[in-house]
Amino acid sequence: MEKKGILIVVSGFSGAGKGTLMKKLVSEYEGYALSVSMTTREPRVGEVDGREYYFTSRERFEEVIAADGLIEYATYVDNYYGTPVEYVEKELEAGKDVLLEIEIQGALKVKEKFPSALLLFVMPPSIDELRKRLLKRGTETGEIIEKRLRRAGEEAEGIEFYDYLVINDDLNECVIRLHEIITAAHAAPARNIDFIKKLRNDLS
Ligand code: 5GP
Repeated sequence: MEKKGILIVVSGFSGAGKGTLMKKLVSEYEGYALSVSMTTREPRVGEVDGREYYFTSRERFEEVIAADGLIEYATYVDNYYGTPVEYVEKELEAGKDVLLEIEIQGALKVKEKFPSALLLFVMPPSIDELRKRLLKRGTETGEIIEKRLRRAGEEAEGIEFYDYLVINDDLNECVIRLHEIITAAHAAPARNIDFIKKLRNDLS
């Protein structure tokens, strides 16, 4: 089958544990590349520029939009977030599966541009657990947590657009499950058109 990389979008409510999941997936399995987004939000304690995000000003962000430097971008709780195009194209070309950890507006834009993208939605085991995780993280004020939970309510409306749900109850199990889903997605006929064409050619 083809060795081409696929574009994988991972979304989920704030506090669902996407960031930790992505880091573990990339460190435990070969063949993944994790895209680093640009954002205008302030870094959280422990976040490093160029690792979690490229932290930037609104002015700079708007310049990059104007220069067509982003695959997609969206606003989320008063800040811009976007995916730089260059890294994604380079890694897909190199055969890597590229992971985008982005919210729903961006996810839908990616699906429009790249119909063969795989859309995954990470769910917490319950909303009670989600609130607990957000409070425990301790990086946001009560007001921001409430805004993020409200946004989660909006995002919940769009979950049906995704290809698969992944429940993040146990981190290790969830990483294995994600990798299994992605492995299976590679076998979809729509992602192997050139291989199918070659077989047909060889038959005729
Ligand atoms: P956080 O501030 O918690 O790091 O991220 C807030 C939300 O923005 C999360 O849902 C995250 O997935 C999303 N996000 C991060 N980077 C991007 C991006 O490049 N584009 C879009 N559309 N959303 C992003």
